[in-house]
Amino acid sequence: MHKDIATPLRTQEILKKYGFSFKKSLGQNFLIDPNILRNIVSYADLTEDSVAIEVGPGIGALTEHLARSAGQVVSFEIDQRLLPVLEDTLSPYDNVKVVHSDILKANVAEELSSEFAKYKDIMVVANLPYYVTTPILLKLLMEKLPIRGMVVMMQKEVADRISANPGTKAYGSLSIAIQYYMKAEVVMTVPKTVFMPQPNVDSAVIRLTRHAEPPVHVIDEEFLFEVSRSSFAQRRKTILNNLQSQLPKGKEKKEKILEALAECGIDPTRRGETLSIIEFGQLADALYPTFR
Ligand code: SAM
Repeated sequence: MHKDIATPLRTQEILKKYGFSFKKSLGQNFLIDPNILRNIVSYADLTEDSVAIEVGPGIGALTEHLARSAGQVVSFEIDQRLLPVLEDTLSPYDNVKVVHSDILKANVAEELSSEFAKYKDIMVVANLPYYVTTPILLKLLMEKLPIRGMVVMMQKEVADRISANPGTKAYGSLSIAIQYYMKAEVVMTVPKTVFMPQPNVDSAVIRLTRHAEPPVHVIDEEFLFEVSRSSFAQRRKTILNNLQSQLPKGKEKKEKILEALAECGIDPTRRGETLSIIEFGQLADALYPTFR
């Protein structure tokens, strides 16, 4: 086995060799602890039959651990300066493809078309750039790629919101958007000291596992997310007030909103944060004929 990239000494050597300076604007905080990397990869349950999609390989710290466990790794990196570095650090591995692209603009399905044919199992495993965590997760989920799940490091506060249960302060439209597709669990909290440079915020690793069946079947997923976003627009307001002010012509259609709430057995004075995903799904379907 080759010497790990993610030791403080080797990372420093690589950065020095290439005269690399970190770009804060790209969320560049590299992992320098091989134990954390081993733990992240173990949560992904990868095998020879797996392809791992990585967002932001950096200098390859996590990538090489993925290459050792998965059949194939496809890594998307936005920073051109890292391409020659990765070519060097990942040269011992013949099962890694680095794609130079902003993940938000990439056609992931096309980049992975040959892998989809060959590998049965697809996982996203990444130490995400924190400034775009939510758009990246939503893009990968909404594109309906056949992903089994994700094991991803992010800002702890975002991990708490994603995995939150109804009735808690952290619960909101992000919890619903993600938990509609996947079961969400925080599996590790991670100290700042394992990064170079150290981030200003605490970090956590979240594991997402696709539901065999969504928790509720709805007429229109997009509309479910619109109803949940509307319901949390002002957290202190009741669900009725939020829906009236956020849905198109909601004020004029108060009676219809009240009827839909009654049909679902939801008290109009409740706040959005008390509704489960199942209740949001039922409510979205009851509102659908009036607002879509
Ligand atoms: N995986 C490496 C590690 O754990 O040490 C680096 C993780 S670092 C937190 C995030 C990486 O994502 C950086 O390499 C950064 O250049 C890259 N990145 C930032 N924005 C990106 C985007 N929109 N698309 C693809 N990569 C991006």
